[in-house]
Amino acid sequence: MDLRDLYQDIILDHGQHPRNFRKQEQPSHFANGHNPLCGDRVTVYVTLDGDRIRDVSFQGRGCAISQASASLMTEILKGKTLAEAEALFAGFRAKVTGGEAPPTPAPLEDDMERLEPLTGVKSYPARVKCATLAWHAFEAALRGGATVKTE
Ligand code: ZN
Repeated sequence: MDLRDLYQDIILDHGQHPRNFRKQEQPSHFANGHNPLCGDRVTVYVTLDGDRIRDVSFQGRGCAISQASASLMTEILKGKTLAEAEALFAGFRAKVTGGEAPPTPAPLEDDMERLEPLTGVKSYPARVKCATLAWHAFEAALRGGATVKTE
């Protein structure tokens, strides 16, 4: 099995069986994300404990990329500090947009590697918004909520 097939399988698996797909009744933060280009919608729920992410979950519907990205994001961000989350998003965004990725802090290298399956979207500019939607919603949640549109 080559890497492309493996990545495809990971995206399909997370898209069909999303992890942490649940609403939180009393999250400390939440926000909606909407990608009108593709029709993807996500709501991201975050519960912080100081500057650490105690719980992060999502609900939504949309294409496999958007759901898989949200699922992977919640798995990776759980337990991280806000600074670590920011570093991961910066690195991920650079990878999917084909930009210059900032150096990944060593403790986060494994997490960044887990996001690799999604970086194939950089060849498809329209899909970049699918892949980053949940991350934008996560950021918006921390800033105080509301709805973020990927435009
Ligand atoms: Zn999409």
